[in-house]
Amino acid sequence: MSYTLEEIPKPIYEETNLKRRKTITKVTTYTLKYFTNYFIEKGFEWFLPVILSKSTDPLWPDPGTSIEKRVETEIYGENVRLMLSMIVHKMIISSLLTPKMFVLSPNIRIERRERAFTGIHCFEFTQLDFEIRYANSRDVMSLVEDLLNKYLSDIKKDLEYELKLLGTYDKITYYNSPFKVYDREELENKFGKKWEEKIKKEIKEPVWIVNIPREFYDFEDFETNKWDNYDLYLPNIGEVLSGSRREYEYEKIVKKMERDGVRKENYNVLLKLAKEGKLKSSAGAGIGIERIIAWVCGCKHIGEVQPFPRIPGYVFEL
Ligand code: ATP
Ligand code: ASP
Ligand code: MG
Repeated sequence: MSYTLEEIPKPIYEETNLKRRKTITKVTTYTLKYFTNYFIEKGFEWFLPVILSKSTDPLWPDPGTSIEKRVETEIYGENVRLMLSMIVHKMIISSLLTPKMFVLSPNIRIERRERAFTGIHCFEFTQLDFEIRYANSRDVMSLVEDLLNKYLSDIKKDLEYELKLLGTYDKITYYNSPFKVYDREELENKFGKKWEEKIKKEIKEPVWIVNIPREFYDFEDFETNKWDNYDLYLPNIGEVLSGSRREYEYEKIVKKMERDGVRKENYNVLLKLAKEGKLKSSAGAGIGIERIIAWVCGCKHIGEVQPFPRIPGYVFEL
């Protein structure tokens, strides 16, 4: 997807085609109900989000992130950040409280303004973020494949009128599971550093991309230099989910934070729990809700899913 200035989605109070926006709203309600029910039926506990915290995702050193600023403020004499992702909280909940958890987590990421034109970035969005104690990558990938296929076949039956109106009905189909898996190294060799752009135009079905070097919490095998993580890519839109098996060993986490220049003092609790052996091995992922809905609705820009679009570089009245 790519976008021109004229095509930036408008807030609903300036929109001329409200019928389309209302139809997208129906798909949004259906999707939220479907996804949350799916996790509840699989025995996950549903948590409410945390928005302000001393500890959030460093989003570093992932070369794919492009944050213009991290929003920090002072409350009660303490510095806190707006949530970039609830990864730290997820790891702690699944270690201490309940082995299967999910949360609809609002993330605030002040993406660089040129990202207005990628079609897939907003500065506020929602992840359906989930975590499973003692799970491995395959467990998570199989769960996501099952969810996606059930969702696509059910939405086709239940929202036939809406999908026909949006023009995506015929394109929505079932995909054979397990989905194909590509190693990021293979893609880099084939397509170069810009593999993300190339692969999303090339694929005709969902694929997994694994072994992507990024933040300290994704599991890295120091002997093979392979990362046990995975992104789900869908045709045209690209990445709609990121996840991994997690690091949980104190020494390893510290080593990675020091190597990456991540401030350890922002992760005191995580480090303390790891040191005491209370941080458990887990795996999970975050699904970009607006991206999934935009894909199903055939939106050119995911801002169309938001009544009040949060487009990088554009701050509307509402
Ligand atoms: P990208 O590389 O596309 O910028 P990312 O890899 O930095 O995304 P993650 O940290 O992996 O993003 O976030 C988990 C998921 O949240 C992504 O897979 C995507 O679906 C969604 N997401 C991330 N950033 C945004 C954004 N700015 N706007 C909308 N959705 C997003
Ligand atoms: N939600 C992602 C995960 O579970 C992390 C992120 O948002 O960066 O791995
Ligand atoms: Mg990602």
